[in-house]
Amino acid sequence: MTDSTQKRIAIFGSTGSIGTQALDVIKANPDKFSAEILTAQTNAELLIAQAKAFDPNVVVIGDDTKYAMVKEALADTQVKVFAGEQALVEAAAMDCYDMMLASIVGYAGLKPTLKAVEMGKAIGLANKETLVVAGDIVMQKAAQNKTPILPVDSEHSAIFQCLVGEMRNPIERIILTASGGPFRGKKPNFLVNVKRDHALQHPNWSMGAKITIDSATLMNKGLEMIEAKWLFGLKPSQIEVVIHPQSIIHSMVQFEDGSMKAQMGLPDMKLPIQYAMAFPERIKNDFPRLDFRRCEQLTFEEPDLRTFRNLALAIEALQKGGNLPCIMNAANEIAVWAFLRNRIGFLDMMAVVEQAMQKVSFIEKPTLDDYFESDAAAREFAASLIHL
Ligand code: NAD
Ligand code: MG
Repeated sequence: MTDSTQKRIAIFGSTGSIGTQALDVIKANPDKFSAEILTAQTNAELLIAQAKAFDPNVVVIGDDTKYAMVKEALADTQVKVFAGEQALVEAAAMDCYDMMLASIVGYAGLKPTLKAVEMGKAIGLANKETLVVAGDIVMQKAAQNKTPILPVDSEHSAIFQCLVGEMRNPIERIILTASGGPFRGKKPNFLVNVKRDHALQHPNWSMGAKITIDSATLMNKGLEMIEAKWLFGLKPSQIEVVIHPQSIIHSMVQFEDGSMKAQMGLPDMKLPIQYAMAFPERIKNDFPRLDFRRCEQLTFEEPDLRTFRNLALAIEALQKGGNLPCIMNAANEIAVWAFLRNRIGFLDMMAVVEQAMQKVSFIEKPTLDDYFESDAAAREFAASLIHL
């Protein structure tokens, strides 16, 4: 049920870590938000439960073998049920919502998000891979259609919050903070033996499997540097990374007078999610507060680019541009998939990404179709290395 004062939210990837937290925000603020579209890839049980609880207009189950199950479970409701990859893009084109929360993981988020951008819908962007793969095209379409893109990634939300009221003041540089993940300070002789269950233990954040592995390899920070370039229109040289293990400062901006702003708080994704959903408003909540008397120290160190080669590779992709970030992302998705299934080791992930970046043809000014083809070529090459 919707009334005209509510913002109608479409959560693409509603069964994931970000998606379920976005539903918590909606549940806590029923006067402000309603859930109109919910989508999931395979978790039909949770999607059904969410649909019963939130009474959306539409649900999409990506895995079409689960269509009958979802349809039947929701037979006595008004919820419309669709299935398959194309249905995600069709749902993104619907009139029934105001804002898309783009919280699908990986390249799979690109096409529905791009459709929403073309429709001029506001986007709450968690799916950083969309900008890594095709940031130039996404941002160009957003400008053409006056589509607001509001970052959900905590670092980019921090920067966005620091920029409120500063629209006329150029940025000199931004500093993305990184926790360093579970293997901060470790060297290759340790990492070579790391297994998936250890890599899935993140010290500060509880997140989906793919981003948790990306955090352990520092690929996540590399993806975020590229995401920041597109979101804030920066040159690669303006984007820096510092390791800050406590994850209290979520990122910083330095202006041309040398003044620096930081956004701080306890690590909790619900805050950037609700900030994007309610922008420019801030919503009162009862999330735990940061208490400086209890946070003994805030420390900072240089990232170890030799050990965590993924970050060095991402910096190369950021600098060279073209389809190189797209190639890197695709190879990384295959490598993480294989690591999560114990098919390759921790350090092998970085080797797969590096080789794909060397071997798949570079295109300086790719079209959208070039990006689709580069993604497919890099996946195929990475899979051949792993003998999938
Ligand atoms: P997740 O794995 O927990 O959830 C992913 C969601 O996407 C699920 O709803 C799943 O059904 C759906 N999905 C997966 N594969 C799909 C496919 N092929 N087609 C359609 N839908 C598919 O992931 P997450 O941790 O919630 O992350 C989502 C996105 O948000 C990622 O891009 C991640 O980098 C970004 N992000 C997450 C966090 C976090 O705290 N989890 C923080 C910052 C950014
Ligand atoms: Mg982040």
